[in-house]
Amino acid sequence: MTTSLVQWLNPKGIGFIFDPAITFHFGAAGSPMAALFVFCLGACLGSFANACAMRLVRDEDFVAAASRCRGCDTRLAWHENLPIIGYLKQRGRCRHCGMKLSPRYIAVEVLGGLLLLSYAVSLPLGIAAGFGVALVFTGIACLTDLESLTLHPALLSALGVIGICLSVAGDAGLLTWHLTSAQTLAGVLVSALVPIAINTSYRLIRGRNGFGEGDFWLLAAFGAWLGPIMGPALFIAASWLGAMVGIGMMLAGRASTMTKLPFGLFAGSAFILWPNLFTRVF
Ligand SMILES: [Zn+2]
Repeated sequence: MTTSLVQWLNPKGIGFIFDPAITFHFGAAGSPMAALFVFCLGACLGSFANACAMRLVRDEDFVAAASRCRGCDTRLAWHENLPIIGYLKQRGRCRHCGMKLSPRYIAVEVLGGLLLLSYAVSLPLGIAAGFGVALVFTGIACLTDLESLTLHPALLSALGVIGICLSVAGDAGLLTWHLTSAQTLAGVLVSALVPIAINTSYRLIRGRNGFGEGDFWLLAAFGAWLGPIMGPALFIAASWLGAMVGIGMMLAGRASTMTKLPFGLFAGSAFILWPNLFTRVF
């Protein structure tokens, strides 16, 4: 008997409801085709998140504006905008002015494809689709925080509200969801209160804030997706990650104790790995 790609990627079939239907409808070639489709979709989500983040940081029109080269302002054709393929075809340069394109484009697109594929093969379809949406919001937050140390409360509130709506839909039996609405609300409260308490103590001792205001919004939003136990656990994981990066940068002489680090990037990275990593660890 041949093993499908999805069975090979996910031998234990954790929560998996996607493959049997695809194999039934499309035969043995169905799974690799579906995997390719999901990867391409994830790459498109990554490309979209990247464009949104760049426009948010520069205060540009967020949704409606056409894509233009940042070097020569030429409007880009659809094939130049294709995720991954566009970058490779033009060998990482603008076709019009020759400006070198940031490797960030292709890195975010490949990562988006791989993450969405990993959700699709390891989670029930409803949860995988939900985390696919969260991936876009979190990607934008990580990228704006990395580039300009800013997190946008409106974006993060929307992420939290979507998490709450999905848990309500789960309660109503409309889809499979891993949290009840009560767990979701508790997740929002606890995930926001823990860092607020820590920040208040830090301010009393050191006389300044340890986190930016955007970090509380981000953690509250993640709490709506992770619940009252995993939400604070994510905060601890992100703090450790941030501390290790900070110590590494200080040892390399590239930061001091006063250097601000993009905490949202660490929390966001831990969050988008959560469906794969943390569900296995805990
Ligand atoms: Zn150009």
